[in-house]
Amino acid sequence: MSVCRFPACESETGGRDAVFCADHHFACTRAEAGFLLRISISARRAESPADREHLREQLNGYVAQTVRKIQERQDKGASSVA
Ligand SMILES: [Zn+2]
Repeated sequence: MSVCRFPACESETGGRDAVFCADHHFACTRAEAGFLLRISISARRAESPADREHLREQLNGYVAQTVRKIQERQDKGASSVA
């Protein structure tokens, strides 16, 4: 198991391809969560190390972007995420 990628969060991720813990997974929109999961799975399944590396870098970028969006929504006090 790996640890949630959300800054300062130390919860375990929800599964092999999940990048966030359950709490932060549900803080994503459905589109964001689905998108991250697809890239994560692609990275794991990539046949060449170069492809895998490329996809992991992309995933890192998208994770950072998604974290910012979640933080923006939290800053706005959008408690309607549930
Ligand atoms: Zn988390």
